[in-house]
Amino acid sequence: MLSVCANELLYKKNNQVSFDINQEIDLEDENGITYTKGNITFTLRNSFILSKGSFISSLKLTCDRCNNSFNTELKFSIDESIEVINRKCNYQKELELKLDETFEQVLHTEKINVIDYIRQFIIINIPYKNLCSIECKNDKINALDSYKEENSIDPRWKDLLLYKDKLKENS
Ligand SMILES: [Zn+2]
Repeated sequence: MLSVCANELLYKKNNQVSFDINQEIDLEDENGITYTKGNITFTLRNSFILSKGSFISSLKLTCDRCNNSFNTELKFSIDESIEVINRKCNYQKELELKLDETFEQVLHTEKINVIDYIRQFIIINIPYKNLCSIECKNDKINALDSYKEENSIDPRWKDLLLYKDKLKENS
C-alpha cells in the first residue's frame, strides 16, 4: 500500500515524499475503474501536510442524454493541505465515519492511503453532467422536440384560426 504519514515525512529529505502513479484506480461506484497517471508530492510544513499533484484519469462514463457509455479523460490537479493534529475528539471521529475517505485532519502517525487520497479527487472532478459529445442526440428526445415544434399551436386555438380564415375568405 502506498502511504504517507506526518512522522515519516519528518525524517525525509526536505520533509517531502513524491509518488508517481500509473495504475488503475477503482472508483468503487457506478463509474467503475479509471486508469490514472500523474504525480503527487506530500510536504510537511509545521503542522500541515501539503499535497500537490497533477493527474490524467481515463474513465468510462454514462451519457446523461443517450445513456450510452463513452470514454473520456479527466485532467485535474491537487493542491490541498491536511492538518496534523495530536488527537481526535469524538466529534471528529463521527465526522470521519460520515465522510469516509476525506483527509482534512490526520494524526501524526496516521497513514494516508495515497490511492484513497487520489480517488476522492477523481470523484470530485467528474462533471455533474456527462454528455458523450456536445452534439449528442437522443433520438427519442429529439423526435419529441420536433413533434412539439411542428405542433406548437395550442389545439384550443384551432377553431379560432379556422374562423379567422373563414372571415378572410368572406371579405
Ligand atoms: Zn450521448
